[in-house]
Amino acid sequence: MARPSRARIDLGALRHNYTLARRLHGGRAFAVLKADAYGHGALRCAQALAGLADGWAVAFLEEALALRAGGIDGPILVLEGVFEAHELHDVRAHGLWTVVHHEAQLRMIEAAAAADGAPPLQVWLKADSGMGRAGFALPDMAAAHARLSACPHVGEIVLMTHFARADEPTEAATARQIAAFDAATAGLPGLRSLCNSAGVLGWSGAYRDWARPGILLYGADPMPEPAGGLRPVMTLESQVFAERTLQPGEPLGYGARFVADRPTRVGLVAIGYADGYPRIAPNGTPVAVDGRLARLVGRVSMDMLTVDLTDLPGTGIGSRVELWGAQVDVNTVARAVGTLSYELLCNVKRVPRVYE
Ligand code: PLP
Repeated sequence: MARPSRARIDLGALRHNYTLARRLHGGRAFAVLKADAYGHGALRCAQALAGLADGWAVAFLEEALALRAGGIDGPILVLEGVFEAHELHDVRAHGLWTVVHHEAQLRMIEAAAAADGAPPLQVWLKADSGMGRAGFALPDMAAAHARLSACPHVGEIVLMTHFARADEPTEAATARQIAAFDAATAGLPGLRSLCNSAGVLGWSGAYRDWARPGILLYGADPMPEPAGGLRPVMTLESQVFAERTLQPGEPLGYGARFVADRPTRVGLVAIGYADGYPRIAPNGTPVAVDGRLARLVGRVSMDMLTVDLTDLPGTGIGSRVELWGAQVDVNTVARAVGTLSYELLCNVKRVPRVYE
């Protein structure tokens, strides 16, 4: 029998989540497919959203070219923009849209000549409105815009910014970012794009022409108190392949991180940290066994982990184990290990993806 571990990907849920985001925000919305669609498979996700999504967003050029090579047409925005001037050739040849967020990129675009037959470059000029990371300082936006406008090979210029704390609904920093961006760009022509997932879900005052939702497409709500409505796309699952009973005082696994305090029936599950399940998940992290909630016990190993089946009569070898999905929210596992759903989803590897 093949190893019974897999990531099931519910493409209907992906479509549902995209539709919900677009309906909430209005205007147009990219499907953010960077990092192989947050671990869900960028090409398959793009295909599933074809005809529905207004465009795609990826982090860097190679990700965009892989989508084009897979037959994905329509707008693709390269969120990090180019790293070197020669990449602009591919950007134009493949009709990609590129973000410009620092001076060196601006100079690369100025230095690129108009190419015969190539469509004008569509540029997304990014402002740093408070993230303190990528983007032009707000006072420099007008000058950057003027320099781009002066380039004969530059077509439309869209204005964008990115939120640092939109997943904190009462945090004034996001309102300040919105106001600062609006003030700095007030006199500039062009469409606007502010919202990531948390912006779409929590900040209607930031709705503009284009949204850029990522994590919400995959059904992991980034807000502390999710409003509901999103459907998880990935189910990470495996099976119990062996079991044993520990007597009180007997240790389990590397480092004896769990010691039985009663006769404990332990199921061995065929998935481990080499598949992307976090090694640091503590005793008690929830899993679902045959649809019932159970807890992880002992250290997660490279290829297996162990769960407590003592209170789950009827479970055993062959029982289905959900590590996250509809029954175990990936956010709950993320919180248990001190990270975000983003990191857990992106880290899934080695297990086959099964599309449904
Ligand atoms: N827009 C930009 C510029 C990003 O860098 C990202 C991801 O980090 C997103 C949108 C999507 O963010 P999220 O997954 O939080 O919706």
